[in-house]
Amino acid sequence: MKTKAAFLEKPEKIEENPLKIKELELPELKENEVLIKVNACGVCRTDLHVVEGELGEIKNIVPGHEVVGIIEKIGKEVKTQKIGNRVGVAWLYSSCGSCEYCLSGRENLCQNKQFTGFSKNGGYSEYIIADNRFIFDLPTGLKDEEIAPLLCSGAIGYRSFKLANASPGSTIAMFGFGGSAHLTLQLAKKLGHKVIIVSRNENHLKLASELGADFTFSPKNGDVYENLKDKDIEAAIIFAPSAIPIMNALKVIKPSGRVVVAGIHIYGEIKIDYDSQLFHEKTLLSVESYTREDMIEYLRLATNLNIKPVYTNIKLEDVNSALTEIKNSEVMGVKVIKF
Ligand SMILES: [Zn+2]
Ligand SMILES: [Zn+2]
Repeated sequence: MKTKAAFLEKPEKIEENPLKIKELELPELKENEVLIKVNACGVCRTDLHVVEGELGEIKNIVPGHEVVGIIEKIGKEVKTQKIGNRVGVAWLYSSCGSCEYCLSGRENLCQNKQFTGFSKNGGYSEYIIADNRFIFDLPTGLKDEEIAPLLCSGAIGYRSFKLANASPGSTIAMFGFGGSAHLTLQLAKKLGHKVIIVSRNENHLKLASELGADFTFSPKNGDVYENLKDKDIEAAIIFAPSAIPIMNALKVIKPSGRVVVAGIHIYGEIKIDYDSQLFHEKTLLSVESYTREDMIEYLRLATNLNIKPVYTNIKLEDVNSALTEIKNSEVMGVKVIKF
């Protein structure tokens, strides 16, 4: 059986349009796998890092890890799903199940995990094969393209929000305003926090205000520390893939505050001055993807709180330009491939 997919032979700058539309032969279904006809796949910044080779040298891969589709075929050992079910596939393709991390509910840190659209072919494709133990039942009442971005952009924001551990009603600052931040802003607002959005993009700040941000600020208009130091910021989440906002956030958070970095890859070097950025029991930590438990919690929360992405549907053929727009911070919300 064949599938039409956006295929990457080897990493290249996105401006070279490295993803080529190709017919690929699907492998035989293994016992624990399902074949899914893809309805929608979100375009995530991580895919840009994959395509440009920042997550390591890869070859011959189909990116895409925010996948919503319908099961068309199941392997012999699959007991929990049936043909016709609508399911989601995300970044964590599988984990080993037996290491210290897997055994302690931290499968996101498993040293033998595989990733959708990186170690295994992903959702920039009409069909995808997935491990049935790592796919998700999806809430009804949301469109395919409304759910797809929740599966990574939303989930990573949720885990970052959880690790930020901000007290009820406190102020959270978010640096960068792409796919993940625009969902996490909604989450934090609906859970009663004050939210500050910092971005260099005026259109992003406008969207942030429309989505309920209490205060927005562009570093083009002045010094971040001087403008945010009196804002009583307890936690900051860094969505922009850069060292600069991390250093700014550490400086503006109040004593015992936390800075959580949501990105899988950061440009630049983080230089920390102990007195002004880390002393007073401040914490800096990173987030690595999500666990299945996080995803199940988040999908329930997103449904109950009516969190929906701002999205534009695109065709598979347009995925190079969508990734270029992510690189240039030109996307409002998210772009979703609709099949
Ligand atoms: Zn493991
Ligand atoms: Zn992602």
